[in-house]
Amino acid sequence: MSKKAPLVAGNWKMHATLAEGRALVSAIVTAAPGLGNARMVVIPPFTALSEAAKLTVGTAVGLGGQNIHWEDKGAFTGEISGPMLRDAGCDYVVIGHSERRQYFSETDATVHKKVGAALRHGLTPILCVGESLEEREAGKTIDRIGAQLDVGLGETGRGDAERIVFAYEPVWAIGTGRTAAPAQAEEVHAFIRGKLEEKYGKPTAACAIILYGGSVKPANAYILYLERDIDGFLVGGASLEADSFVGIASEALRASKEE
Ligand code: PEP
Repeated sequence: MSKKAPLVAGNWKMHATLAEGRALVSAIVTAAPGLGNARMVVIPPFTALSEAAKLTVGTAVGLGGQNIHWEDKGAFTGEISGPMLRDAGCDYVVIGHSERRQYFSETDATVHKKVGAALRHGLTPILCVGESLEEREAGKTIDRIGAQLDVGLGETGRGDAERIVFAYEPVWAIGTGRTAAPAQAEEVHAFIRGKLEEKYGKPTAACAIILYGGSVKPANAYILYLERDIDGFLVGGASLEADSFVGIASEALRASKEE
């Protein structure tokens, strides 16, 4: 059975000057028409959002922010709000990335507030979950992901849940060159889909987009995408070069056409 069209999002993290960002987005926009119905999303640092929006508007390439505050405005130095992200041209926002959890003390409770803010402002949250190496080795992966989803989603209703993109990113695979084996990733993706089915029913679960993230490159995208519950990728390092980012989308598209 062929799969849904892939979604491939590139999280640039704290990389790229304006000039570098313009060159990268231009190359991705130029390649997009050759990628059929695969959807690519660029997620630059805040400083490059407006410039990226000028290049992505009216194209098949989406634009996202890397963080959002749950309030619309106020005395929150260093933060960015939903209305600001919309104003800059974003339609997606990454929430609960493990680097935010690890270095900036984000919790499942703040993740939940951020998901609410994103939905309130018409942004698609890319809600990240993932276990640490210690949690995996202790056999706690499923419990950890389950708790992140339970608290992160909270009382989110079905209609809103259908607007969320989920990303499973094992912390031990991010930026380490160590990718989860396809079967390891699939086990967690299937669990996430099952959890969504329990909460919201089968149709919602079947349509949910669940990305995998953690050292994805063109060389491993095809085999990962063949897994039933992997609908695309959240890419860090390999999204900083147009060739590798577009190569991942192209490999996922190829796998999506496999019978
Ligand atoms: C990420 O930061 O979300 C990520 C998956 O990074 P990398 O692809 O570099 O492992």
